[in-house]
Amino acid sequence: MESKKLGKKELLVGIKSWVKKEKQATLIVLEYLSEIDRRNLWQEEGYSSLSDFCMRYLGYSGPEAARRIHAAGCVEKIPEVKPLLEDSRLSLSAISLIAPHITAANAPKMLPLVAGKSTREIPELLAEHFDVPLPKEGIKLPHDPELEKLLKEYEGLSSEKDQLVLIKDALKIAIKQKRAYWEPKKEVNRPVKKHTRYIPLAKRREVRKQSDGRCAYKSDSGVRCNQTVHLEFDHSVAWAHGGSSQDAGNIRLLCKVHNQFLARNQFEKARKFVPATSRARGSDGDNALGESVRVAGRGRG
Ligand SMILES: [Zn+2]
Repeated sequence: MESKKLGKKELLVGIKSWVKKEKQATLIVLEYLSEIDRRNLWQEEGYSSLSDFCMRYLGYSGPEAARRIHAAGCVEKIPEVKPLLEDSRLSLSAISLIAPHITAANAPKMLPLVAGKSTREIPELLAEHFDVPLPKEGIKLPHDPELEKLLKEYEGLSSEKDQLVLIKDALKIAIKQKRAYWEPKKEVNRPVKKHTRYIPLAKRREVRKQSDGRCAYKSDSGVRCNQTVHLEFDHSVAWAHGGSSQDAGNIRLLCKVHNQFLARNQFEKARKFVPATSRARGSDGDNALGESVRVAGRGRG
């Protein structure tokens, strides 16, 4: 494949240019869809709706079809949406969210508000400025065959009341565990060691506050990671290399991906200076350097 031969810079510049072409193609697809719908061609060709045409004739999934149909209608109704889609200030998903509420009258106010906003932020803006109710949020169960099998089995063995009790009990336990971690009544009294991997609660809170509850990783080009879940505390100067757990300046909050990425980088750098005999021993803990303390569970000492 051509891309395998490309360097990092060529890949990063190349993908931008292909995405631009993809956007242009999307806009053409939306124009075609509007015209096909205007002429009712889907009907003549044996489809029950434009959505059915998009799925069976064009091969889109249900949600992909819905996003394109919403966007096509929106661009047709409000032409000012088109340039926003063109330069990525609005995605197809974002247009789907605003499509039912946007009118020629409110577009001049609504479009600058939603342009560049994520699909998470848009419902809040709509609720605040346009009297649109916020969608009900709940825990989304991930697609997991084992979980689905267990749920189905439990469903067959229990009443609706049992199922409700089970969910409530499981949530109570999970909340209790999370609270015990973030809001413990008092810090566990640990013997003060000169050099310990254990990060005191006050330091963990300080670091979390400084990071705004987000992964602190920033790329060379200045892009900050926005992950807010499954975060881990990590020593900037490795604990094994004398880095302190008492100094909040030496502790950073990282998502799992960036913790592993930085550890791998550090490990690769270290490998160049470590004799081959030491390398064979490998890692001893959470990452390649055995550094991190996971946020989800109690911090190791
Ligand atoms: Zn991250």
